[in-house]
Amino acid sequence: MAIDVRPPLRIDHLAVIIEAVMSDKWNYSVFWEEAINILRARKSEQESEMWLGRIIYHKSEASLIVVLVPSKFFQDQVKTRYLNEIEQLLVELSGTEIKIEFKIQSANKERVSETIEAPVTNSAKSTSKKVSRHPMLNADYTFDHFVIGDNNNFAANAALAIAREPGTIYNPFLIYGGVGLGKTHLLQSIGNMVHLTNPEKKIIYVQMDNFTTEFIESIARKEQHLFKAKYRTADILLIDDIHSITKREGTQEELFYTFNALYDNKKQMVFTCDRPVSEIKEITDRLRNRFERGLNVDLQPPSYETRFAILRKKIESWGVNIPDESIQIICNNITTNVRDLEKAITKLRAFSELMGKEITPEVTREQLKDFFSVTNRKNISIDLIIKEVASYFNLTSQDFRQKRRTQSVSFPRQIAMYISREITEYSTTEIGEEFGGRDHTTIMHGCQKISDIMKSDPTIEPIVKELIRKIKTEGLNS
Ligand code: ADP
Ligand code: MG
Repeated sequence: MAIDVRPPLRIDHLAVIIEAVMSDKWNYSVFWEEAINILRARKSEQESEMWLGRIIYHKSEASLIVVLVPSKFFQDQVKTRYLNEIEQLLVELSGTEIKIEFKIQSANKERVSETIEAPVTNSAKSTSKKVSRHPMLNADYTFDHFVIGDNNNFAANAALAIAREPGTIYNPFLIYGGVGLGKTHLLQSIGNMVHLTNPEKKIIYVQMDNFTTEFIESIARKEQHLFKAKYRTADILLIDDIHSITKREGTQEELFYTFNALYDNKKQMVFTCDRPVSEIKEITDRLRNRFERGLNVDLQPPSYETRFAILRKKIESWGVNIPDESIQIICNNITTNVRDLEKAITKLRAFSELMGKEITPEVTREQLKDFFSVTNRKNISIDLIIKEVASYFNLTSQDFRQKRRTQSVSFPRQIAMYISREITEYSTTEIGEEFGGRDHTTIMHGCQKISDIMKSDPTIEPIVKELIRKIKTEGLNS
C-alpha cells in the first residue's frame, strides 16, 4: 500500500471552510472533512486507512450528517471506536451539536438507496424533529426565565431585539455591570433564542479566559488555522467577561481580527464586562474602540420590587414552598445582586428538605443570619476604610491615594488594602482604583504582606481587628 502522508491541515483550508459555510447553511461537509482529518492525524496510518478512510460523507441535514459505510459490522465498529470523538470534534469545529447517521452502502459503486435505513439512534431521530439544546449554553438562561425590571429594562429589550434579528441592529452589543446581575443570563438568552428559531446558525459561547487559553494552545499545537476556522465562521459570537482579557498582544490581535471578520460579514457579536470598557486598562485602543462601536448598556442592582418578582419566579419554578413573608425578609436584607438572592433561597430549600421543616419567617431569619451580614459587606465603602485607617495612623485619605512609598505611609496603606479585601466584596482591581489607581497586583502584594506580618508579629492582629470593628460600626451607622 502506498504510504498515505496526508498533507498537514493547510492555512488555505480556512478560506475554503469559511466560504463553504457561508454559501450553504446546511453543508457540514467541511466540518466533517476537517474532523476526519484531525482524527486521522491522531491515529496510526493503518487504523486510519482501515476505518476512517472508508467512511464516505453523503449529505447534511439540520444538525445531522449522513455518512455511508460498507456494512453493519463496519458501522458498529466505527460507532464504538470513533463516534464520540468525531462528535466532539464536530462540536469544537462547528460550535453546534451535529449527530451522525450511518447508511449502509451495499456494493461499492452503487448509489445509496434511501430505503436502506441503517438503525438511527434515538437522539439523531429527535434532533431532526425538534431542536436539541445548544451544547455550549445553559438551557435555563432564556428570556422566559428572565424578570425584567427597571434595572435591566433597556438591556433586556435590546437583547431581545438582537435575538430576533441578529447582526442587523446593534453590533456588537455589550452588557456591563457588577457580579450576579444577569449579564451571562442575558447573553445566553440571545444564544438560546437564536438557536431555537434558527438551529442552523453557528453560535459560539466562550468565556474570555477560555478564548485566551484555546488560542494559546492552538499555537502550541500549530493548529491556529483551526482556531481561526472555528471563530471566524460564527454567525453569533458570545464572549463572556471580556474584562479578564490579558495583556498578551497575540490574543488581543486575534480577537481584533476575529471581530473585524465577523463585523464585516454582519455576524452578531455580544460581549459582557464587569465595568465600562473605557475602564479596562489592559486593552489596546483599537480593540476598545471595536467594543464600544455598537451598543453598550449597563445592568444595575435590582430594586425591591424586581428582587421580589425574581424570587417569586425562581421559587415557583423550583417548586419550593417559601411564604411571601420570608421572601420579603430576604428582599429587605439582600440588596446586592440576584446571585446572592438565589444563594439565600437555595440554603432555605436545603434546610427545609434535609430537616423536613416548614419555612417560616423565623426559620428564614435564623438560617440566613450570617448570610445577611455577609452580603451587606459591600455596603461598606473603601472610602470609609481608607478614612478610618488613615485617621488611626494620623494620616489623611489623600496620603493613601498618592504615590508616596515611605514606610510611615505604605504600611498603614497596606493595612487599609488588607481590610478592604477582607470585609468587602470588591475585587482587587476595584480596590486598586480607590487607592489612587493602583494595579491589582499591588493590592494583592499589600494584602499578602500584611497577612505575613500578622503571623510573625502578634501586635499587629489586634490593631487590624480593632480597625475592622470600628469600620463596621461606622458603616452600619452611616
Ligand atoms: P452575571 O453574569 O452578571 O454575574 P448571571 O447572569 O450569572 O450574572 O446571573 C446570576 C444568577 O441570577 C443566574 O442564575 C441568573 O439566572 C439569575 N438572574 C439574574 N438576573 C435575573 C433576572 N432579571 N431574572 C431572573 N434571574 C436572574
Ligand atoms: Mg457572568
